Amino acid sequence: NKGAKTLIVTGGAGFIGSALVRYLINQTEHRVVNIDKLTYAGHLESLEEISGSDRYHFEKSDICDATDIRRIYNQYEPDAVIHLAAESHVDRSIDGAADFIRTNITGTWQLLEEAARFRKTLPDSRANGFRFLHVSTDEVYGSLGKEGMFTELTPYDPRSPYSASKASSDHLVRAWFHTFGLPVLITNCSNNYGPYQFPEKLIPVVILKALQGEQIPVYGKGENVRDWLYVDDHVRALLRVLERGTPGETYNIGGHNEKQNIDVVHTICDTLDNLVPRPDSHRFREQISFVTDRPGHDLRYAIDATKIEHELGWKPEETFETGIKKTIQWYLENVAWCETVTKNNYDLTRLGAGA
Ligand code: NAD
Repeated sequence: NKGAKTLIVTGGAGFIGSALVRYLINQTEHRVVNIDKLTYAGHLESLEEISGSDRYHFEKSDICDATDIRRIYNQYEPDAVIHLAAESHVDRSIDGAADFIRTNITGTWQLLEEAARFRKTLPDSRANGFRFLHVSTDEVYGSLGKEGMFTELTPYDPRSPYSASKASSDHLVRAWFHTFGLPVLITNCSNNYGPYQFPEKLIPVVILKALQGEQIPVYGKGENVRDWLYVDDHVRALLRVLERGTPGETYNIGGHNEKQNIDVVHTICDTLDNLVPRPDSHRFREQISFVTDRPGHDLRYAIDATKIEHELGWKPEETFETGIKKTIQWYLENVAWCETVTKNNYDLTRLGAGA
């Protein structure tokens, strides 16, 4: 197949990466090389349905290991890299930032260096088509007040160790475009939700705590606003940017689904009331418990996705209402996955309510 390419996906055993890899194998002809270190957040169980494909290759490797990354580029000769590997949880970055600095900054730098080196070995026709797509977050733009939205021109103003490390990586990626001519693309996306999200982020935490009959922790008064995007919509946006985006450009990705955290929690509780009715007229909302707010908690994020919508013709397929139903249903049907991914080295009592 002439259109089929070899794509390196980093972080393919994580939440968004695994959705991307499943999509690439199920819906396209591309060959996928998944580089993942398998940290606490990476789980091959999320890739079981596609792991038998002869177009799928797994390399257990650390993106900071330049020698191994060089071997992988040389061995598979990729047409593009989609870089998602990262430490991704804000609360963990507050507990300790070392892994965030190492993976998100140093790791991104190593991937860029090796990509630029590998690209130089390609004939012009292939070198021109080579792409490095860096997957980043809207958190690099800081926090909004009640009004306004993030555009691609919003100045960077990261507030947490996580967002500062992602902002640094975005700057490095741009530097490799301007200084070394590497054809990069950057995407900054709002909060994702959907199946296979590790149960430390807001939505799976709420679903699982509710089902376990435990208190559902909500930071502050739950007034923080996030702009939610169903993970498969993010995946489709990434592929659109990879195929049609202009090198050097940044694209914001968002779902026009601004919600206060407390409204998200209420929606989940009310949906569960319908799906798992209890004889004792218990309502899941009764389990909500407000806890001390996260330090430096950004008040509001909202994405203006006009550029990707107008220039690349992408728009989300799911609304929050359809996406959250699918997600809750998936967690109800996949308790075994949740138990497997949380069984090692993981303290359920430590769960925050972060988003
Ligand atoms: P995740 O934490 O679920 O997955 C991260 C993956 O990276 C894991 O599989 C982990 O094992 C792997 N990894 C970590 N360090 C590594 C290293 N040194 N070498 C190789 N692999 C390593 O994260 P996610 O939520 O899927 O996010 C993926 C990317 O998308 C991240 O770059 C994140 O910043 C970005 N992003 C996430 C969101 C969101 O809402 N989750 C929104 C916007 C952008």
